[in-house]
Amino acid sequence: MDKFVPDLIAILGQERVLFEPEHLAVYGFDGTAALSGTASCVAFPITTEEVSKIVKYAAAHKVPVVSRGSGTGLSGGSIPQAGSIVLCLAKMDKVLELDEKNLTVLVEAGVITLTVTELADAAGLLYPPDPGSGKISTIGGNVAENSGGLRGLKYGVTRDYVMGMEVVLASGEVVWLGNKCVKDVAGYSMKDVFIGSEGTLGIITRVLLKLVPKPQAKKTLLATYSRMDAAAETVSAIIAAKIIPCTLEFLDKITIQCVEDFAHIGLPLDAEAILLMETDGHPAVIAEEAARMEEIARKCGAVTVQVAQTANETDKLSSARRSAFSALARISPTTILEDATVPRSELAKMVNFIQGVAQRYNLRVGTFGHMGDGNLHPTFLTDERNKEEMHRVEQAMKEIFDFAIQLGGTITGEHGVGLAKKGFLAASIGNASLELIKQLKRTLDPDCILNPGKIFDL
Ligand SMILES: Cc1cc2nc3c(=O)[nH]c(=O)nc-3n(C[C@H](O)[C@H](O)[C@H](O)COP(=O)(O)OP(=O)(O)OC[C@H]3O[C@@H](n4cnc5c(N)ncnc54)[C@H](O)[C@@H]3O)c2cc1C
Repeated sequence: MDKFVPDLIAILGQERVLFEPEHLAVYGFDGTAALSGTASCVAFPITTEEVSKIVKYAAAHKVPVVSRGSGTGLSGGSIPQAGSIVLCLAKMDKVLELDEKNLTVLVEAGVITLTVTELADAAGLLYPPDPGSGKISTIGGNVAENSGGLRGLKYGVTRDYVMGMEVVLASGEVVWLGNKCVKDVAGYSMKDVFIGSEGTLGIITRVLLKLVPKPQAKKTLLATYSRMDAAAETVSAIIAAKIIPCTLEFLDKITIQCVEDFAHIGLPLDAEAILLMETDGHPAVIAEEAARMEEIARKCGAVTVQVAQTANETDKLSSARRSAFSALARISPTTILEDATVPRSELAKMVNFIQGVAQRYNLRVGTFGHMGDGNLHPTFLTDERNKEEMHRVEQAMKEIFDFAIQLGGTITGEHGVGLAKKGFLAASIGNASLELIKQLKRTLDPDCILNPGKIFDL
C-alpha cells in the first residue's frame, strides 16, 4: 500500500478507496486496445468538497491525479500511471436540476449520458450529443473528451451543449464557469478551455447542459451501394442540396458483414457500402427531405433505398450502425478503433486510401463512421500478441493519419489524443499550437499533477 493511501482513507473512508492489486487491475485500462497501467489507489468522491480535498492533498504531495468516468475512452485518457490516484467520478451521479424555463439541466459529472437523454425526452426535450457509448459513458467524460455522436452533423458535439461547469483546479480551488445566459461575453470563455482537456487542466464536477425542443418526427432511410465512392458522393450531393440530415452514417463491406452476422438485420452481404440517413423536424418538412434524399441517393448510384415505415423498422435500420463497433469487436482478440477525420469533400479519397493501406499491409480493417461529419472509424481487427502484425498496424495507422493531415483533416474527430495519439499531435496541429497548449498547462497546473503524460509530454 502506498504511503498516501491511509490519508485518502481518512478523507473518504475505507469503503471509497481501493488499493488491492485485483481492484487496481480493473481500473488499469479503458476502451483503448493494448494500453494499460497501474495506479496506487482508486478514490470515489461523492461531493465536490471531497474532490477538492483530494486534489489539495495531491498538490501538496505532488501525486499525479487521473480523473476517470466510466473508462470507455478510446485514446487511453484515463489509463493511470504508476504512483497515481485514480479519481473516479462515477459515484457523483445526481441530476440536480431540470430547468424547463431556461431549457437546461444541471448534473454531477458522473451522471450517465443516457440518463440525460431520457430525462430530456420525458420532458419533451432533446439532449442531442449521443456517443455510441451513451449507455455507459459519463457526462464528465463526454465533456473532457468533447465527445461527438451520430447526430453531430445537424446538432454539433458536446461543446455546443455545455453552458457552464464547476471545475476543481490543480490547486484544489473550486471555480464555476459559465451560466444559464444564452449570451455572455464577460471575460474569456474559460469553460471552453476545459472542454476537451482530457483531465489535464482540471476536474469537472458539475455540468450545466443545454437542451433543445424535441423534433416532432424523424424519417430513417438506408441506401446500399456497389461502390464506396457513390456513398461519399451521395453525402456531398445531399449537403449541396441544402439538406442537413441529423444522421449520415456509413458502413463498409467488412463492417456490413460483421454487423449482419451479429445482428441479423437483413443487410445485403454483397454491398460495398451502406448509408444510414435520418432527417428530423416537422413531419411535412421531413417527408419532403426524405423524398429528396432518396432521389439524390438513387441518382448517385444507390442500388436500393429503403425508407423505414414504422418505429420498429427505424430501430432496426439504426441498429445496423449502432452495433458496428460491437460487431467488429467480436472478430479478433484486439480491436483498434481510429477516428481520422477529413473535410467532407475529401471523404471518398480518404476511404479509398484506407482500403488501399489495408491491402498493402495485409490487414483486416472495417471502416464505418459519421460520413456527414467526415469522421471515419477505420477499425483494425488484430491481435496485440502478434508483434509482427501490430507493427504493420502501427505503420498503417501512421499512413492514415499522415494522409488525413495532408487532406486538411485531423488525427482525431472525437476520441481525443490521450496516450494513443500524442506522438501525432505536433504533425496535426503544428509546433506553435502545441507550445500554446503547453503554456496553458503550465499556467493552470504548474506541478503537472493532473493526468500527466496525456495529450503531450511537457
Ligand atoms: C462502444 C463505444 C462507442 C463509442 N462511441 C463514441 C462516439 O460515438 N463518439 C465519441 O465521441 N466517443 C465515443 N466513444 C468514446 C468514449 O465513450 C467517449 O470518449 C466518452 O466521452 C468517455 O466517457 P467516460 O465517462 O467513459 O470517460 P473516461 O474514459 O473515464 O475518461 C475519458 C477522459 O476524460 C477524462 N475525464 C473523465 N471524467 C472527467 C472529469 N469529470 N473531469 C475531468 N476529466 C475527466 C479522463 O481523464 C480521460 O482523459 C465510444 C467508446 C466505446 C467503448
